[in-house]
Amino acid sequence: MDFFDKLGKKASETYKYTSEKTSKLAREAKLKMQMNEHKSQIEDLYEEIGKKMYEHHVNDKALDIDIDAVLEEYCIQIDELCDRIEDERKELLTLKDKKQCPNCFCEIELDYKYCPNCGDEQKENEEEV
Ligand SMILES: [Zn+2]
Repeated sequence: MDFFDKLGKKASETYKYTSEKTSKLAREAKLKMQMNEHKSQIEDLYEEIGKKMYEHHVNDKALDIDIDAVLEEYCIQIDELCDRIEDERKELLTLKDKKQCPNCFCEIELDYKYCPNCGDEQKENEEEV
């Protein structure tokens, strides 16, 4: 390989690195947006639950509504949203090349052996289990 080939290769590697970094940032921004969206959907559901409970209180037993079943449906939706937020949060951590301390849940560098926040020892490859 002569000098100019090497130069060309290096330039394209730099370009590749930059565009990967840019798409990472874009993905990160999108994930954050999705998380916020899902969080606000959960807030809406909480509000709905509150409303349903109050309506039930006002109408009391006049309306034969199974309030537990109604609430259960809302709770299932919240569970699903929480799962999605959890997945998004994990993907976000991976994107940032960070891991989460299993003890205090703060974000730390992948290669840290001990958590700088709580001092907890970090077991290897815990994320992959
Ligand atoms: Zn910690």
